[in-house]
Amino acid sequence: MRLPSLALAAHDIYRSSPSHSGVEANISVAADVLVETIGTLRGMGYRFVNFGEFMAEHRGGAVVLLTFDDGYRSFRDCALPLLTAQGIPTVITLVSGALRCPGDPFPLWLHTVRDHPGALEQAACAPFVSHPHVRRVVAASGFPSLRDLLAQPLGVPSEAFRTSLTHNQLEELAEIVAGIPDLGRVTMTEADIKGLSGLIEFGAQSVTHRSFALLTNREIELEVTNSAASISELSGKPAGSLPFVYPYGAVTTYAERVVRSVFRAGFTCHSRPLTALDHASSFPRINLDGEAIRNATSGGAVADLLSLAREKLKLHARTGPAWVVLGPIRNAVRRLGRSV
Ligand SMILES: [Zn+2]
Repeated sequence: MRLPSLALAAHDIYRSSPSHSGVEANISVAADVLVETIGTLRGMGYRFVNFGEFMAEHRGGAVVLLTFDDGYRSFRDCALPLLTAQGIPTVITLVSGALRCPGDPFPLWLHTVRDHPGALEQAACAPFVSHPHVRRVVAASGFPSLRDLLAQPLGVPSEAFRTSLTHNQLEELAEIVAGIPDLGRVTMTEADIKGLSGLIEFGAQSVTHRSFALLTNREIELEVTNSAASISELSGKPAGSLPFVYPYGAVTTYAERVVRSVFRAGFTCHSRPLTALDHASSFPRINLDGEAIRNATSGGAVADLLSLAREKLKLHARTGPAWVVLGPIRNAVRRLGRSV
């Protein structure tokens, strides 16, 4: 059987128990699942390659590109030692604006807050809990308190913060969260990134981590070109030799055109193997959870169908885009219920 080439996506890695939000957003993978996946794919005849080799060889099949999004510290602390021991090359795709900021990109810091409800009661959290921006979000959400808002499914608080605040206001809150001892920062800073060693390459994932589906063409252009400049400087390589990853996998025709003109390739979150019809500006990438891997690699018409169906679901199941559609509807229904 000819093995279709694969691009895999991972985010946060854990050894014992995943963070609640990571499971809901499908961005947490167990270290042993990672190791098992690598072993299984190698056993099938797949070869893990670096980005340059992937671009040169993907048409021939049987190659895998492993990517990690958002630059989680857990990549450095947990995944990197495992990957180094096995000689697996990795691409880390970075949100360039967050590298020099004190806090995590949105919505990652909000995940951290939500995963630590106990910490919110402590005095150290007061600068966040009583911040005017946070109060405004809670008031606009219609929920009686921050605690109530955060207790909703992940997309509800994410959308409440995203729609009530500007990007700069979200960054202000990110900094506060990063400074609270029990919360802190989950992604690497530029200094952390520079300290990495091993078979690591870099890719860009925009400047601000906003979904391209929500931006103007001009904003998309700035997100692509400015992140290209930053990651090119960081990696010492021209942007034309680097990969780009669309935040939340959200790609528009215009975004694809800009990415094609700036980067070597662009990756989505369409959960399926590569086909001969895929353009380099929108390669599919399979999120690294067991079920997606099984569907994508088992071959056969039924599995292909399942894989395609999952692709559509996955695209909408991720934190952002699902709630671009579902969040406002849900909120509107709830408000309606209250006013009746
Ligand atoms: Zn991301």
